[in-house]
Amino acid sequence: MSDDSFDVIVAGAGPAGSACAYALAREGKNVLLLERGDSAGAKNVSGGRLYTYALELLEPGMYLRAPLQRRIVREQVMLVEGRRATTLDVADPAWGEGVPQSHSVVRASLDAWFASEAEAAGAVFASGMRVDGLIEENGRIAGIRVGEDEMRADVVVAADGVNSLLAQQAGLFPDVEARAVGVGVKETIELPDSVINARFGVTGEEGVARVAIGCTEGISGGGFLYTNKGSLSLGIVFNPEQAAANGRQIQEIFQDFKEQPSIAALIDGGTSVEYGAHLVPEIGYHGIPKRLHREGMLVIGDAARFGINTGLVIRGMDLAIVSGLAAARAILQEGTPTGPAYLSQLEELALLPTMRAYAEFHGIFGISRIFREYPALANQALGFMFNVDGKVPPPMLKKLLAVVKENVTFRQLAADAWKGYRSV
Ligand SMILES: Cc1cc2nc3c(=O)[nH]c(=O)nc-3n(C[C@H](O)[C@H](O)[C@H](O)COP(=O)(O)OP(=O)(O)OC[C@H]3O[C@@H](n4cnc5c(N)ncnc54)[C@H](O)[C@@H]3O)c2cc1C
Repeated sequence: MSDDSFDVIVAGAGPAGSACAYALAREGKNVLLLERGDSAGAKNVSGGRLYTYALELLEPGMYLRAPLQRRIVREQVMLVEGRRATTLDVADPAWGEGVPQSHSVVRASLDAWFASEAEAAGAVFASGMRVDGLIEENGRIAGIRVGEDEMRADVVVAADGVNSLLAQQAGLFPDVEARAVGVGVKETIELPDSVINARFGVTGEEGVARVAIGCTEGISGGGFLYTNKGSLSLGIVFNPEQAAANGRQIQEIFQDFKEQPSIAALIDGGTSVEYGAHLVPEIGYHGIPKRLHREGMLVIGDAARFGINTGLVIRGMDLAIVSGLAAARAILQEGTPTGPAYLSQLEELALLPTMRAYAEFHGIFGISRIFREYPALANQALGFMFNVDGKVPPPMLKKLLAVVKENVTFRQLAADAWKGYRSV
């Protein structure tokens, strides 16, 4: 392939890269999509909930062709304190109607499908090809290197994930900083659909998404559980700096989460078929590098640190797809796009405005008591209210105030409320 030249080379066949390659190839651009894994999705770990609007933006009705798992119609929030758990369950069938709001997905099949869509649209897709470096000529990016081979293009799109080698080589931003990322682990656990439906109170194609708070031993982070077809995705994401300071291994925290009685009951009898760990951009808008382009190069998806985590909603794949589409539109508009063309597409497609809307939200994770004391407080307060032991109960208000005082001081409560108010 050493003499090949393309309109666009896309490095990385995750949702960002495949969306970009698809949108360009269907307009007749000569596109090369390269993936270092043996197949698209082979190296990807994700909790697995995709907000459907992103595929709709790319092409209305496209989601109907995608290997989506279950449409999410129940959202659950679980507050964990050791063996105890309080779970809020929000069910809304409307989330599953029309174009469903979100679906659980399994990345191996989603990514493979997405790359094959780009290929069917006319892109050249090559897996097992790690992009090792960039070709730079007269101050512009003119192509890429794979081993000894050089490939040239008018534009190189870096879609190589959160630890983007290409963006770093282009001098757009330095190495990943620990404060800006979370470490995620995920396990896929197989269970028959009939068991999943009975345990989660859903039928057929319906699914549940659960987040858990208080399962990370006071470390900033949380757990997640999604129902797929014939399997569950279970995982945790947390701050690596704090975990290191606490001397805790990710596997130990994850194992404790799996053994938490309310989780153990849901995964009981399941077979673990996949386990992986990955970084995830964590700090949202303030984590986006100042420059996402060089002449001849654009950066998309996790490589551009597009991610939103509100604690209840984790978004990365949808933003990856939207940014892939934005890059494609900028290239279609300008050939070799300038930064402003790409940025204006990111604005028009609502990616940057959405991230800006959540810009201060990350401050919530600065309230350390969210990860231990407040889940404990909720469990203890509700536990007291449900308790019947034949003895005369203490006055309810007095007891509840005592429960609060056991976990936080009123000064801390006021400070956290103010911090939370400002973040939201
Ligand atoms: C545990 C966990 C749970 C998550 N849960 C969710 C969720 O529920 N919902 C959600 O929306 N997001 C979730 N995310 C975030 C989501 O996974 C990412 O935002 C999304 O995958 C970003 O897509 P991308 O295409 O930019 O990057 P990636 O998916 O990381 O894809 C990058 C691709 O580039 C390839 N690559 C890397 N380097 C090279 C190279 N040098 N040459 C060639 N190819 C290369 C990789 O192999 C990979 O296939 C989660 C992340 C983690 C870690």
